[in-house]
Amino acid sequence: MLLRHTPKEITERTALTINPAKTCQPIGAMYAALGIHGCLPHSHGSQGCCAYHRSALTRHYKEPVSASTSSFTEGASVFGGQANMLQAINNIFTVYNPEVIAIHTTCLSETIGDDLPQIKKKAAAEGKIPEGRYVISASTPSYAGSHVTGFSNMVKAMAGMAEPTGKKNGKVNIIPGWVEPADMEEIKRITNLIGVKTILFPDTSGVLNGPLSGEYKMFPEGGVTVAELKSTGDSKGTLALGEWCSADAARELDKKHKVPCSVLDMPFGLMATDRFIDALRTIAGVSIPDEIVNERGQLVDMISDMHQYLYGKKVALVGDPDQLIAMTEFLVAMDMKPIHIVTGTPGKKFEKRIKELTKDMGCEVNVKAAGDMFLLHQWIKNEPVDLIIGNTYCKYIARDEDIPYVRWGFPILDRQGHQYFPTVGYKGGLRLLEKILGVLLDRKDRDDPETKFELVL
Ligand code: SF4
Repeated sequence: MLLRHTPKEITERTALTINPAKTCQPIGAMYAALGIHGCLPHSHGSQGCCAYHRSALTRHYKEPVSASTSSFTEGASVFGGQANMLQAINNIFTVYNPEVIAIHTTCLSETIGDDLPQIKKKAAAEGKIPEGRYVISASTPSYAGSHVTGFSNMVKAMAGMAEPTGKKNGKVNIIPGWVEPADMEEIKRITNLIGVKTILFPDTSGVLNGPLSGEYKMFPEGGVTVAELKSTGDSKGTLALGEWCSADAARELDKKHKVPCSVLDMPFGLMATDRFIDALRTIAGVSIPDEIVNERGQLVDMISDMHQYLYGKKVALVGDPDQLIAMTEFLVAMDMKPIHIVTGTPGKKFEKRIKELTKDMGCEVNVKAAGDMFLLHQWIKNEPVDLIIGNTYCKYIARDEDIPYVRWGFPILDRQGHQYFPTVGYKGGLRLLEKILGVLLDRKDRDDPETKFELVL
Protein backbone atom coordinates (compact mmCIF):
# COMPACT_ATOMS: atom_id res chain seq x y z
CA MET A 1 0.00 0.00 0.00
CA LEU A 2 2.35 2.70 -1.21
CA LEU A 3 -0.43 5.30 -1.20
CA ARG A 4 -1.94 4.22 2.12
CA HIS A 5 -1.78 7.78 3.46
CA THR A 6 -4.18 9.17 0.84
CA PRO A 7 -7.26 10.15 2.90
CA LYS A 8 -10.79 9.53 1.70
CA GLU A 9 -11.91 12.92 2.89
CA ILE A 10 -11.36 15.61 0.25
CA THR A 11 -10.08 18.99 1.40
CA GLU A 12 -10.23 22.01 -0.88
CA ARG A 13 -6.69 22.84 -2.07
CA THR A 14 -5.70 25.95 -4.01
CA ALA A 15 -1.95 26.23 -3.56
CA LEU A 16 -0.77 22.63 -3.44
CA THR A 17 -0.43 19.96 -6.13
CA ILE A 18 0.24 16.39 -5.00
CA ASN A 19 1.47 13.93 -7.63
CA PRO A 20 0.89 16.14 -10.69
CA ALA A 21 -0.95 14.73 -13.68
CA LYS A 22 1.38 16.58 -16.06
CA THR A 23 5.01 17.26 -16.74
CA CYS A 24 6.95 20.30 -17.89
CA GLN A 25 6.54 22.35 -21.08
CA PRO A 26 9.95 21.68 -22.69
CA ILE A 27 9.27 17.92 -22.85
CA GLY A 28 6.38 18.61 -25.20
CA ALA A 29 8.45 21.08 -27.21
CA MET A 30 11.26 18.53 -27.51
CA TYR A 31 8.87 15.78 -28.64
CA ALA A 32 7.35 18.04 -31.30
CA ALA A 33 10.79 19.14 -32.55
CA LEU A 34 11.84 15.50 -33.02
CA GLY A 35 9.05 15.30 -35.60
CA ILE A 36 11.04 17.52 -38.01
CA HIS A 37 13.50 15.64 -40.22
CA GLY A 38 17.10 16.53 -39.42
CA CYS A 39 16.21 18.63 -36.39
CA LEU A 40 18.20 18.94 -33.19
CA PRO A 41 16.08 20.15 -30.25
CA HIS A 42 17.94 22.67 -28.11
CA SER A 43 17.19 23.39 -24.48
CA HIS A 44 17.98 26.97 -23.48
CA GLY A 45 18.72 26.52 -19.81
CA SER A 46 20.79 24.40 -17.48
CA GLN A 47 22.09 20.90 -18.24
CA GLY A 48 19.83 19.32 -15.64
CA CYS A 49 16.63 20.38 -17.39
CA CYS A 50 17.84 19.02 -20.72
CA ALA A 51 18.95 15.73 -19.17
CA TYR A 52 15.54 15.30 -17.53
CA HIS A 53 13.60 16.08 -20.70
CA ARG A 54 15.68 13.70 -22.80
CA SER A 55 15.43 10.91 -20.28
CA ALA A 56 11.64 11.36 -19.93
CA LEU A 57 11.24 10.91 -23.69
CA THR A 58 13.76 8.05 -23.86
CA ARG A 59 12.01 6.19 -21.07
CA HIS A 60 8.67 6.42 -22.87
CA TYR A 61 9.77 5.83 -26.48
CA LYS A 62 12.69 3.48 -25.66
CA GLU A 63 14.84 5.28 -28.23
CA PRO A 64 17.87 7.53 -27.80
CA VAL A 65 16.83 11.20 -27.82
CA SER A 66 19.49 13.69 -28.85
CA ALA A 67 19.23 17.30 -27.75
CA SER A 68 21.70 20.07 -27.01
CA THR A 69 21.70 22.58 -24.16
CA SER A 70 22.87 26.16 -23.56
CA SER A 71 24.40 24.74 -20.40
CA PHE A 72 23.77 27.66 -18.06
CA THR A 73 26.04 28.10 -15.07
CA GLU A 74 26.01 30.87 -12.45
CA GLY A 75 27.13 33.54 -14.94
CA ALA A 76 24.37 32.91 -17.49
CA SER A 77 21.83 32.63 -14.68
CA VAL A 78 22.68 36.15 -13.54
CA PHE A 79 23.59 37.97 -16.76
CA GLY A 80 21.38 36.12 -19.25
CA GLY A 81 22.05 33.31 -21.69
CA GLN A 82 22.64 35.21 -24.95
CA ALA A 83 26.36 34.46 -25.11
CA ASN A 84 25.75 30.75 -24.41
CA MET A 85 23.03 30.59 -27.05
CA LEU A 86 25.14 32.25 -29.74
CA GLN A 87 28.04 29.94 -29.04
CA ALA A 88 25.70 26.95 -28.99
CA ILE A 89 24.25 27.79 -32.44
CA ASN A 90 27.76 28.08 -33.83
CA ASN A 91 28.93 24.81 -32.25
CA ILE A 92 25.82 22.83 -33.22
CA PHE A 93 25.96 23.76 -36.90
CA THR A 94 29.74 23.18 -36.97
CA VAL A 95 29.73 19.82 -35.19
CA TYR A 96 26.34 18.19 -35.97
CA ASN A 97 25.09 20.19 -38.98
CA PRO A 98 21.34 19.68 -38.43
CA GLU A 99 18.87 21.16 -40.92
CA VAL A 100 16.98 22.83 -38.10
CA ILE A 101 17.75 23.78 -34.51
CA ALA A 102 14.49 23.97 -32.53
CA ILE A 103 15.12 25.98 -29.38
CA HIS A 104 12.82 25.90 -26.39
CA THR A 105 13.25 27.84 -23.18
CA THR A 106 13.17 26.55 -19.60
CA CYS A 107 12.02 28.03 -16.29
CA LEU A 108 15.44 29.59 -15.76
CA SER A 109 15.86 31.37 -19.11
CA GLU A 110 12.22 32.52 -18.95
CA THR A 111 12.71 33.96 -15.48
CA ILE A 112 15.82 35.82 -16.61
CA GLY A 113 13.77 37.08 -19.56
CA ASP A 114 15.99 35.94 -22.46
CA ASP A 115 14.53 37.15 -25.74
CA LEU A 116 14.95 34.26 -28.20
CA PRO A 117 13.75 36.06 -31.35
CA GLN A 118 16.30 38.82 -30.68
CA ILE A 119 19.10 36.28 -30.07
CA LYS A 120 18.16 34.47 -33.30
CA LYS A 121 18.37 37.76 -35.22
CA LYS A 122 21.78 38.45 -33.74
CA ALA A 123 22.98 34.92 -34.66
CA ALA A 124 21.79 35.45 -38.24
CA ALA A 125 23.40 38.90 -38.43
CA GLU A 126 26.70 37.44 -37.19
CA GLY A 127 26.57 34.72 -39.86
CA LYS A 128 26.20 31.89 -37.36
CA ILE A 129 23.28 30.29 -39.23
CA PRO A 130 24.58 28.72 -42.47
CA GLU A 131 22.70 29.11 -45.76
CA GLY A 132 19.82 26.62 -46.03
CA ARG A 133 19.79 25.97 -42.28
CA TYR A 134 17.10 27.17 -39.87
CA VAL A 135 16.62 28.09 -36.24
CA ILE A 136 13.10 28.10 -34.81
CA SER A 137 12.11 28.78 -31.23
CA ALA A 138 9.29 28.47 -28.75
CA SER A 139 8.80 30.02 -25.36
CA THR A 140 8.09 27.20 -22.90
CA PRO A 141 8.08 28.36 -19.27
CA SER A 142 7.27 25.38 -17.13
CA TYR A 143 5.53 27.30 -14.40
CA ALA A 144 2.60 27.79 -16.79
CA GLY A 145 0.59 25.17 -18.66
CA SER A 146 2.01 21.68 -19.09
CA HIS A 147 3.90 19.44 -21.54
CA VAL A 148 0.85 19.83 -23.82
CA THR A 149 1.30 23.63 -23.89
CA GLY A 150 4.98 23.19 -24.75
CA PHE A 151 4.08 20.81 -27.57
CA SER A 152 1.53 23.25 -28.94
CA ASN A 153 3.99 26.17 -28.74
CA MET A 154 6.65 24.29 -30.71
CA VAL A 155 4.12 23.15 -33.35
CA LYS A 156 3.11 26.80 -33.72
CA ALA A 157 6.80 27.66 -34.26
CA MET A 158 6.89 24.99 -36.99
CA ALA A 159 3.90 26.65 -38.67
CA GLY A 160 5.98 29.83 -38.61
CA MET A 161 8.31 28.22 -41.19
CA ALA A 162 5.61 28.44 -43.87
CA GLU A 163 6.74 30.36 -46.94
CA PRO A 164 3.82 30.59 -49.38
CA THR A 165 4.73 30.84 -53.06
CA GLY A 166 1.27 31.89 -54.16
CA LYS A 167 0.82 28.59 -56.03
CA LYS A 168 -1.39 26.02 -54.27
CA ASN A 169 0.23 22.60 -53.67
CA GLY A 170 -3.01 20.57 -53.63
CA LYS A 171 -2.21 19.21 -50.16
CA VAL A 172 -3.91 19.31 -46.78
CA ASN A 173 -1.93 20.05 -43.63
CA ILE A 174 -2.68 17.62 -40.85
CA ILE A 175 -1.54 18.47 -37.35
CA PRO A 176 -1.93 15.21 -35.43
CA GLY A 177 -1.28 16.51 -31.92
CA TRP A 178 0.64 14.60 -29.25
CA VAL A 179 0.06 11.05 -30.33
CA GLU A 180 2.41 8.09 -30.62
CA PRO A 181 4.69 7.65 -33.66
CA ALA A 182 2.54 4.63 -34.60
CA ASP A 183 -0.55 6.87 -34.55
CA MET A 184 1.12 9.29 -36.96
CA GLU A 185 1.92 6.33 -39.24
CA GLU A 186 -1.71 5.22 -39.03
CA ILE A 187 -2.99 8.70 -39.91
CA LYS A 188 -0.78 8.63 -43.00
CA ARG A 189 -2.08 5.17 -43.94
CA ILE A 190 -5.68 6.39 -43.66
CA THR A 191 -5.08 9.55 -45.70
CA ASN A 192 -3.28 7.52 -48.38
CA LEU A 193 -6.18 5.08 -48.58
CA ILE A 194 -8.64 7.93 -49.04
CA GLY A 195 -6.34 9.58 -51.55
CA VAL A 196 -5.68 12.87 -49.78
CA LYS A 197 -2.20 14.34 -50.24
CA THR A 198 -1.04 15.64 -46.89
CA ILE A 199 1.71 17.35 -44.97
CA LEU A 200 1.72 15.85 -41.50
CA PHE A 201 3.51 17.89 -38.88
CA PRO A 202 5.06 17.05 -36.56
CA ASP A 203 5.73 13.47 -37.67
CA THR A 204 7.72 11.34 -35.24
CA SER A 205 7.08 8.07 -37.09
CA GLY A 206 10.38 6.60 -38.19
CA VAL A 207 12.13 8.77 -35.62
CA LEU A 208 11.00 7.37 -32.27
CA ASN A 209 9.81 3.93 -33.39
CA GLY A 210 12.55 3.02 -35.82
CA PRO A 211 14.08 -0.42 -36.31
CA LEU A 212 17.31 -1.64 -34.70
CA SER A 213 19.55 -1.64 -37.75
CA GLY A 214 22.93 -1.84 -36.07
CA GLU A 215 23.78 1.63 -37.36
CA TYR A 216 23.35 4.79 -35.26
CA LYS A 217 21.79 7.70 -37.08
CA MET A 218 21.80 11.03 -35.29
CA PHE A 219 18.99 12.16 -37.59
CA PRO A 220 16.73 9.20 -38.46
CA GLU A 221 14.81 8.87 -41.74
CA GLY A 222 11.44 10.08 -40.47
CA GLY A 223 10.03 13.51 -39.79
CA VAL A 224 8.38 16.27 -41.79
CA THR A 225 10.93 17.93 -44.07
CA VAL A 226 11.83 21.61 -44.14
CA ALA A 227 10.52 21.80 -47.73
CA GLU A 228 7.17 20.42 -46.57
CA LEU A 229 6.98 22.86 -43.67
CA LYS A 230 7.67 25.77 -46.02
CA SER A 231 4.94 24.48 -48.29
CA THR A 232 2.27 24.42 -45.55
CA GLY A 233 1.41 28.01 -46.49
CA ASP A 234 0.40 26.79 -49.98
CA SER A 235 -1.90 24.01 -48.75
CA LYS A 236 -5.62 24.12 -49.41
CA GLY A 237 -6.50 23.70 -45.76
CA THR A 238 -5.43 22.45 -42.34
CA LEU A 239 -7.02 19.79 -40.15
CA ALA A 240 -5.94 20.33 -36.56
CA LEU A 241 -6.56 17.26 -34.42
CA GLY A 242 -7.13 18.52 -30.91
CA GLU A 243 -7.84 21.98 -29.53
CA TRP A 244 -5.02 21.89 -26.97
CA CYS A 245 -2.17 20.45 -29.06
CA SER A 246 -2.82 21.57 -32.59
CA ALA A 247 -5.32 24.42 -32.94
CA ASP A 248 -2.90 27.31 -32.29
CA ALA A 249 -0.62 26.28 -35.17
CA ALA A 250 -3.57 25.81 -37.53
CA ARG A 251 -4.98 29.23 -36.63
CA GLU A 252 -1.55 30.78 -37.17
CA LEU A 253 -1.48 29.43 -40.75
CA ASP A 254 -5.02 30.68 -41.26
CA LYS A 255 -4.29 34.13 -39.89
CA LYS A 256 -0.95 34.68 -41.61
CA HIS A 257 -1.38 32.85 -44.91
CA LYS A 258 -5.15 32.40 -45.33
CA VAL A 259 -4.95 28.59 -45.13
CA PRO A 260 -8.43 27.73 -43.80
CA CYS A 261 -8.48 25.42 -40.81
CA SER A 262 -10.87 23.04 -39.08
CA VAL A 263 -10.27 21.88 -35.54
CA LEU A 264 -11.41 18.31 -34.94
CA ASP A 265 -11.11 15.96 -32.00
CA MET A 266 -8.27 13.47 -32.05
CA PRO A 267 -9.53 10.40 -33.92
CA PHE A 268 -9.69 7.98 -30.98
CA GLY A 269 -12.74 5.71 -30.87
CA LEU A 270 -15.67 5.37 -33.21
CA MET A 271 -17.30 8.78 -33.46
CA ALA A 272 -14.20 10.99 -33.48
CA THR A 273 -12.75 8.74 -36.20
CA ASP A 274 -16.02 9.04 -38.15
CA ARG A 275 -15.69 12.82 -38.11
CA PHE A 276 -12.04 12.67 -39.18
CA ILE A 277 -12.77 10.29 -42.06
CA ASP A 278 -15.73 12.43 -43.11
CA ALA A 279 -13.56 15.56 -43.17
CA LEU A 280 -10.99 13.77 -45.35
CA ARG A 281 -13.72 12.41 -47.64
CA THR A 282 -15.15 15.90 -48.09
CA ILE A 283 -11.74 17.40 -48.85
CA ALA A 284 -10.88 14.67 -51.36
CA GLY A 285 -14.39 14.65 -52.87
CA VAL A 286 -14.38 10.83 -52.97
CA SER A 287 -16.40 8.01 -51.45
CA ILE A 288 -14.90 6.20 -48.52
CA PRO A 289 -12.83 3.20 -49.68
CA ASP A 290 -14.11 -0.30 -48.83
CA GLU A 291 -11.04 -1.02 -46.70
CA ILE A 292 -11.97 1.77 -44.29
CA VAL A 293 -15.67 0.82 -44.31
CA ASN A 294 -14.61 -2.73 -43.34
CA GLU A 295 -12.36 -1.51 -40.54
CA ARG A 296 -15.26 0.52 -39.13
CA GLY A 297 -17.52 -2.50 -39.39
CA GLN A 298 -15.01 -4.63 -37.47
CA LEU A 299 -14.91 -2.11 -34.64
CA VAL A 300 -18.72 -1.90 -34.47
CA ASP A 301 -18.86 -5.72 -34.52
CA MET A 302 -16.48 -6.07 -31.61
CA ILE A 303 -18.35 -3.43 -29.59
CA SER A 304 -21.68 -5.18 -30.13
CA ASP A 305 -20.23 -8.68 -29.48
CA MET A 306 -18.71 -7.65 -26.15
CA HIS A 307 -21.15 -4.96 -25.07
CA GLN A 308 -22.44 -7.04 -22.16
CA TYR A 309 -19.01 -6.82 -20.51
CA LEU A 310 -18.68 -3.10 -21.11
CA TYR A 311 -22.15 -1.92 -20.15
CA GLY A 312 -22.29 0.23 -17.01
CA LYS A 313 -18.62 -0.23 -16.11
CA LYS A 314 -17.31 2.77 -14.18
CA VAL A 315 -14.02 4.22 -15.37
CA ALA A 316 -11.44 6.68 -13.99
CA LEU A 317 -9.39 8.54 -16.59
CA VAL A 318 -6.23 10.61 -16.39
CA GLY A 319 -4.25 12.14 -19.24
CA ASP A 320 -4.07 15.05 -21.64
CA PRO A 321 -7.16 17.03 -22.65
CA ASP A 322 -7.34 16.15 -26.36
CA GLN A 323 -6.94 12.42 -25.69
CA LEU A 324 -9.38 12.41 -22.78
CA ILE A 325 -12.13 14.18 -24.72
CA ALA A 326 -12.06 11.56 -27.49
CA MET A 327 -11.71 8.68 -25.00
CA THR A 328 -14.64 9.92 -22.91
CA GLU A 329 -16.85 10.09 -25.99
CA PHE A 330 -15.76 6.56 -26.99
CA LEU A 331 -16.50 5.09 -23.56
CA VAL A 332 -19.88 6.83 -23.29
CA ALA A 333 -20.82 5.53 -26.76
CA MET A 334 -20.14 1.99 -25.50
CA ASP A 335 -22.39 2.56 -22.44
CA MET A 336 -19.47 2.70 -20.05
CA LYS A 337 -19.40 5.37 -17.35
CA PRO A 338 -16.30 7.57 -17.14
CA ILE A 339 -17.03 9.12 -13.74
CA HIS A 340 -13.67 10.51 -12.57
CA ILE A 341 -11.64 12.48 -15.13
CA VAL A 342 -8.47 14.45 -14.40
CA THR A 343 -6.03 16.29 -16.60
CA GLY A 344 -3.01 18.18 -15.29
CA THR A 345 -3.31 20.74 -18.09
CA PRO A 346 -5.29 23.85 -17.17
CA GLY A 347 -8.36 24.92 -19.17
CA LYS A 348 -11.95 25.39 -18.06
CA LYS A 349 -13.05 24.53 -21.61
CA PHE A 350 -11.98 20.97 -20.91
CA GLU A 351 -14.32 20.61 -17.95
CA LYS A 352 -17.19 22.09 -19.98
CA ARG A 353 -16.63 19.72 -22.91
CA ILE A 354 -16.47 16.65 -20.65
CA LYS A 355 -19.70 17.72 -18.91
CA GLU A 356 -21.39 17.99 -22.31
CA LEU A 357 -20.17 14.56 -23.41
CA THR A 358 -21.33 12.89 -20.21
CA LYS A 359 -24.56 14.81 -19.56
CA ASP A 360 -26.86 11.90 -20.57
CA MET A 361 -24.97 9.27 -18.60
CA GLY A 362 -27.38 9.50 -15.70
CA CYS A 363 -24.78 9.91 -12.95
CA GLU A 364 -22.52 12.54 -11.44
CA VAL A 365 -19.14 13.04 -13.10
CA ASN A 366 -16.07 14.42 -11.34
CA VAL A 367 -13.89 16.34 -13.76
CA LYS A 368 -10.95 18.63 -13.10
CA ALA A 369 -8.49 20.48 -15.32
CA ALA A 370 -5.21 21.32 -13.58
CA GLY A 371 -6.02 18.47 -11.20
CA ASP A 372 -3.65 15.88 -9.75
CA MET A 373 -3.35 12.13 -9.18
CA PHE A 374 -3.96 12.58 -5.45
CA LEU A 375 -7.43 14.00 -6.11
CA LEU A 376 -8.16 11.21 -8.59
CA HIS A 377 -7.24 8.66 -5.93
CA GLN A 378 -9.52 10.36 -3.40
CA TRP A 379 -12.43 10.33 -5.83
CA ILE A 380 -11.81 6.61 -6.45
CA LYS A 381 -11.78 5.95 -2.70
CA ASN A 382 -15.15 7.70 -2.39
CA GLU A 383 -16.68 6.05 -5.44
CA PRO A 384 -14.74 2.99 -6.67
CA VAL A 385 -14.42 2.22 -10.38
CA ASP A 386 -14.12 -0.95 -12.46
CA LEU A 387 -11.29 0.33 -14.62
CA ILE A 388 -8.54 2.94 -14.68
CA ILE A 389 -7.17 4.24 -17.99
CA GLY A 390 -4.11 6.45 -17.87
CA ASN A 391 -0.33 6.75 -17.82
CA THR A 392 2.19 4.72 -15.83
CA TYR A 393 1.68 6.70 -12.62
CA CYS A 394 -1.79 5.14 -12.28
CA LYS A 395 -0.15 1.84 -11.35
CA TYR A 396 0.15 2.91 -7.72
CA ILE A 397 -3.58 3.63 -7.42
CA ALA A 398 -4.50 0.51 -9.40
CA ARG A 399 -2.39 -1.69 -7.12
CA ASP A 400 -3.54 -0.15 -3.85
CA GLU A 401 -7.23 -0.22 -4.79
CA ASP A 402 -7.00 -3.51 -6.75
CA ILE A 403 -8.54 -2.08 -9.93
CA PRO A 404 -8.01 -3.30 -13.52
CA TYR A 405 -5.86 -0.83 -15.40
CA VAL A 406 -5.05 0.01 -19.03
CA ARG A 407 -1.92 2.01 -19.78
CA TRP A 408 -2.59 4.74 -22.34
CA GLY A 409 -1.19 8.23 -22.81
CA PHE A 410 2.10 9.80 -21.74
CA PRO A 411 4.29 8.70 -20.10
CA ILE A 412 4.31 4.91 -20.19
CA LEU A 413 7.56 3.93 -18.56
CA ASP A 414 7.02 0.30 -17.63
CA ARG A 415 5.52 -1.33 -20.74
CA GLN A 416 6.28 -1.62 -24.45
CA GLY A 417 4.16 -1.50 -27.59
CA HIS A 418 2.65 1.97 -27.47
CA GLN A 419 5.20 3.25 -30.05
CA TYR A 420 4.38 0.44 -32.49
CA PHE A 421 0.63 -0.17 -32.25
CA PRO A 422 -1.68 2.74 -33.05
CA THR A 423 -4.76 3.60 -31.05
CA VAL A 424 -6.13 6.19 -33.51
CA GLY A 425 -8.61 5.33 -36.24
CA TYR A 426 -10.87 2.27 -36.37
CA LYS A 427 -7.96 -0.16 -36.17
CA GLY A 428 -6.67 1.78 -33.18
CA GLY A 429 -10.16 1.59 -31.66
CA LEU A 430 -9.97 -2.20 -31.96
CA ARG A 431 -6.67 -2.19 -30.10
CA LEU A 432 -8.03 0.05 -27.35
CA LEU A 433 -11.08 -2.13 -27.00
CA GLU A 434 -8.99 -5.30 -26.94
CA LYS A 435 -6.90 -3.85 -24.11
CA ILE A 436 -9.97 -2.72 -22.15
CA LEU A 437 -11.75 -6.05 -22.58
CA GLY A 438 -8.57 -7.95 -21.75
CA VAL A 439 -8.23 -6.45 -18.29
CA LEU A 440 -11.98 -6.55 -17.54
CA LEU A 441 -12.29 -10.23 -18.52
CA ASP A 442 -9.07 -11.18 -16.69
CA ARG A 443 -10.63 -9.69 -13.58
CA LYS A 444 -13.88 -11.55 -14.16
CA ASP A 445 -11.95 -14.82 -14.55
CA ARG A 446 -10.04 -14.08 -11.35
CA ASP A 447 -13.08 -13.20 -9.26
CA ASP A 448 -15.84 -15.47 -10.60
CA PRO A 449 -16.79 -18.38 -8.31
CA GLU A 450 -16.12 -21.84 -9.78
CA THR A 451 -19.80 -22.22 -10.69
CA LYS A 452 -19.57 -19.18 -12.95
CA PHE A 453 -16.06 -19.70 -14.31
CA GLU A 454 -16.72 -19.99 -18.06
CA LEU A 455 -14.51 -21.26 -20.86
CA VAL A 456 -16.32 -19.20 -23.49
CA LEU A 457 -16.94 -15.50 -22.92
S1 SF4 B 1 13.39 23.72 -13.96
FE1 SF4 B 1 11.52 24.02 -15.20
S2 SF4 B 1 12.12 23.45 -17.29
FE2 SF4 B 1 13.68 22.63 -15.92
S3 SF4 B 1 13.01 20.51 -15.52
FE3 SF4 B 1 12.22 21.82 -13.85
S4 SF4 B 1 10.15 22.38 -14.49
FE4 SF4 B 1 11.23 21.64 -16.32
